[in-house]
Amino acid sequence: MDYDKIKYAIYLIYEKYAINRLPFDCIGLLETMGFSCKKYSHLSESKYEACLRLSEDACTLGNEIFYNDKKSKRRIRFSLMHELGHLALDSQDEAEANNFASTILAPSMAVYYSKLSNIREISNIFNISLECAKYAYETCEKWVYSVKHYGMTDVDWKIYNHFYDEEVRKFVFKITPCAYCDTLIYNSNKPLCECCDKPVSNISRFDRQRIDFINAENSWLYGGI
Ligand SMILES: [Zn+2]
Ligand SMILES: [Zn+2]
Repeated sequence: MDYDKIKYAIYLIYEKYAINRLPFDCIGLLETMGFSCKKYSHLSESKYEACLRLSEDACTLGNEIFYNDKKSKRRIRFSLMHELGHLALDSQDEAEANNFASTILAPSMAVYYSKLSNIREISNIFNISLECAKYAYETCEKWVYSVKHYGMTDVDWKIYNHFYDEEVRKFVFKITPCAYCDTLIYNSNKPLCECCDKPVSNISRFDRQRIDFINAENSWLYGGI
């Protein structure tokens, strides 16, 4: 498999559609690209049967992408990007489309800068399934090994520059304010900045509840597709 070819196709999409934050809205991207996304459950019985025969998850007919809305939201995101992979790579290869889907949702460089190695945390920060998170983490480990030995490739540099934030002078794929002091937190799913994330001490019970609420709210927000 030509990983750099896949990364290049993804880089072009990031660039053209100004995707510089992860996770991004998959249906929004596809609609902006001119596809219309339709739920299996909204189809007539005969069409529904036909789609299910083609794929349990998703299928593409012309510029319409049908997806099985009975699956989990994270699996749907993967299936939609899998379909986009077939289109962007002009390939019917399933392994290539899977690599495309995993890489566009959780590129190795972003996994690396998240500093996460726990699969569940990776799945949460990128809003992907555990299975996809495991694959993304393993791919990231291989990528880090290759960068240490051979350096970054041209397309790696393109992706790095795309996500490079001039203000803080680093690779940034996610920015959230600290739930307590509003300091900006980069590339992390933690609700608190490093200063506030210290043993309870000066944070009141009320603020603790507020932080728990913000955590819950984040999971509703990122629970979307
Ligand atoms: Zn496929
Ligand atoms: Zn703080």
